[in-house]
Amino acid sequence: MDPVDGALEKFRIFKKDDFEADWIKVMERSFGQVYRVKLKLWREKCALKSFDTTLTGTSFYRRMIEEASKMEKVTFKYIVSVYGVCNDPPAMVMEYMSNGSLDHLLTSHMLMWPKKFQMIHEATMGMNFLHSMNPPLLHLNLKPSNILLDDHLHIKISDFGLIKWEEAGSKKEFIENLTARGSICYIPPEAFTLCPEHPGTKFDVYSFSIVMWEILTQKKPYQGGKRSSTMTVLMKVSSGRRPGLEKIPDDKPHECEQMITIMQRCWDQDPRERPDFSDTVRKTEALIDVLGIGGCSNGDNTHKPDYTMLSPSCGRKSTCSLANPPDMSNTRDDILNLLSRKD
Ligand code: ATP
Ligand code: MG
Repeated sequence: MDPVDGALEKFRIFKKDDFEADWIKVMERSFGQVYRVKLKLWREKCALKSFDTTLTGTSFYRRMIEEASKMEKVTFKYIVSVYGVCNDPPAMVMEYMSNGSLDHLLTSHMLMWPKKFQMIHEATMGMNFLHSMNPPLLHLNLKPSNILLDDHLHIKISDFGLIKWEEAGSKKEFIENLTARGSICYIPPEAFTLCPEHPGTKFDVYSFSIVMWEILTQKKPYQGGKRSSTMTVLMKVSSGRRPGLEKIPDDKPHECEQMITIMQRCWDQDPRERPDFSDTVRKTEALIDVLGIGGCSNGDNTHKPDYTMLSPSCGRKSTCSLANPPDMSNTRDDILNLLSRKD
């Protein structure tokens, strides 16, 4: 049997009619759109990520079914669930993440240190899960816009496994595809060499280190006064340059030094020197446990909103030291009052 037909047999295929009529556009993308839709049968909100087949090619839908059928099997607390695919419009149907992307949160709100640490640990948990599959499921496009936030501001990894080295035709196309998606800063230096090896788990470890830097600094990498060009980033990274540690705020708690050490190991020029997520996750877990802010490893805080870990006022330095984590006992109203936007 054709493997695609095999995947089709078991896999959920939705049609336009399966959703209520009011589609809310969440995001316009260069390759399609993301909508918030409601499934008539389940009475549940879902995200529908459509793909423009004029840009992606006609074989794309078949490939998407193959990929989505693999993703459907991945169920883990820190991974966005894929429910199936839609045939018209060609789209992936997945869990709706009410608080959008980490990318947006990092620019819109000040995060307090405990929340930063918790997010780093949760991202490591998600990545460790993908890499512990057999064979490891490579993400190859890990970045803050592919890290989504649930109702309680806990993170889930999204869009894993959509980028494929083999299908790109050439290494140049692979890099071009990622660059077109705004992912240049997350590509490790070895991918820019003349004869790069097939990307492995250490590709994602590198991307993760840049995500760590963005969480710690709440800034975009390699931006002096203006946005760096693709070529500038490529040259810098190839020559061993990395985002500056001086951008990490001075009010950092001393535990941050350990996070920085992990980050620096993860962005090592030599991929063999970068740790596996199975190693990193133990270190971030230990940090979280020492600080008593985790709860993510035993799942006992999933119903607690974490708004308390967003800084109460814009531009104000966080007064929260990690040795004295914030009071988490606020009512939901108190919590919402604490939310503030960055300018
Ligand atoms: P890439 O194609 O490289 O993944 P991207 O992540 O910037 O690029 P999309 O994956 O289309 O683009 O996502 C765009 C935005 O849509 C996300 O940053 C997020 O705000 C929103 N989004 C995507 N998936 C979901 C979802 N499952 N639930 C809620 N919002 C989502
Ligand atoms: Mg994405």
